[in-house]
Amino acid sequence: MSVRVAEAATAPEFPKAAKQAIANTQLRHNVRHATDVIRAKRARVVDEIPDWEQLRDAGHAIKAHTLRHLDFYLKQFETACKNAGGHVHWARDADEANDIIVGLMRQYHQSEVIKVKTMTSDETRLNVALEAADIMPYETDLADLIVQLGEDKPSHIVVPALHRNKMEIRQIFLEKMKLTTLGDRPEDLADAARRYLREKFLRVKVGISGANFAVAETGSICVVESEGNGRMCVTLPEVMISLVGIEKVIPRFQDLEVFLQLLPRSATGERMNPYNSIWTGVSAGDGPREFHVVLLDNGRTNVLADAQSRETLNCIRCGACLNACPVYRQTGGHAYGSVYGGPIGAILTPQLQSMEHSQTLPYASSLCGACYEVCPVKINIPEILIHLRRRVVEQGNAPFSERIAMQTASFALSNSSRLSTAQKLIRIGQWPFEREGKLENLPGMLGAWTAVRDLPAVPKQSFREWWSARGTGKRV
Ligand code: SF4
Repeated sequence: MSVRVAEAATAPEFPKAAKQAIANTQLRHNVRHATDVIRAKRARVVDEIPDWEQLRDAGHAIKAHTLRHLDFYLKQFETACKNAGGHVHWARDADEANDIIVGLMRQYHQSEVIKVKTMTSDETRLNVALEAADIMPYETDLADLIVQLGEDKPSHIVVPALHRNKMEIRQIFLEKMKLTTLGDRPEDLADAARRYLREKFLRVKVGISGANFAVAETGSICVVESEGNGRMCVTLPEVMISLVGIEKVIPRFQDLEVFLQLLPRSATGERMNPYNSIWTGVSAGDGPREFHVVLLDNGRTNVLADAQSRETLNCIRCGACLNACPVYRQTGGHAYGSVYGGPIGAILTPQLQSMEHSQTLPYASSLCGACYEVCPVKINIPEILIHLRRRVVEQGNAPFSERIAMQTASFALSNSSRLSTAQKLIRIGQWPFEREGKLENLPGMLGAWTAVRDLPAVPKQSFREWWSARGTGKRV
């Protein structure tokens, strides 16, 4: 099995990519403006709900229960989906999932497909596989369409083109839709996209969706969205294929009551998504005549195996942690080198790849806890970040400077006389840099620390020295 999370295995390390992103002032402005707007809307609609914390607890509990019994609920989903006339395929990794979908396209003799927002297909790089097989994929979610036409990469879980402003989008549409004129108002851009897509909705015979939730009890797939393009994709084609990560399963239809409150408020600051599509198998004379679900592992069972970080799989991809994260708000999503950016990307991407790649991502956080506070399913991201940092160290892959610093600290702290000697030496060395109990402008690599943080000086007398000096006449 070879797990692949988009191009994360070959992406530059986060610190390098972040440095480049930070230099792009237009990108920073776009990201900050967009996340500010979404955060303000989210805060307003969350405040309206008196039992928001209980809803978060319920979401967390349902997900935790499902993950503990994931084998049972996946089999239940498979049986229910087949009973309703669907077909279920199992894919161990990205290549298997892509092969299954390309195979289905050939089976139905189709060379074009319309897609409704499916981030999982970005994870498997399905579009690349389809194009290699001479099959043309058309993204229909407006933001995904902008990314596809702009030959770009998504930078946000919910708003993939968040890094683009309307003038940039207008330029992309003018060039790629071969238009001669186009206004720059949002409604002009939406109108151009509508005209471009409508003809495809009516012509193309296969649709591919992702899933926000897969209901085990009924075998149903649920997709929520704001534009209605997804609704077109799941109703008009003759064949429907849903690519679903195995963690998307929830036990009961009734559980949607919790998630359909948590998700829209956290994701876009809406009380409810304008379009909530839920479909179960096939029905004669209504919607697609063939329905396939591809259940994707691609490293998820490895995440499940780690009890300390498995709640990463609770994620309902709302993007609230990205909008709240002071690191993401500076760098945008591309710096994370994966389709999953921000705090959830920092914990999910390295784990999916069994900690073989993306090992700088767990360090892409100030551990301020803002992500945990807003997460609708209460994933303790800061704790998982620390857990993953420990795994990086255990694998011997911590940065050289950090290893030396930690080994030196361990040597000094594990013996009281060594600690006392170290304190005396530091007192001698620190005086040129000491100002009012703090160290400033330290030389070399330490300077990077003191440039942005307070570093307390070693006190003139330690507690141990003070304690042993009591009653001896020495300074206390
Ligand atoms: S980790 Fe939580 S806040 Fe972040 S995208 Fe997932 S569900 Fe949303």
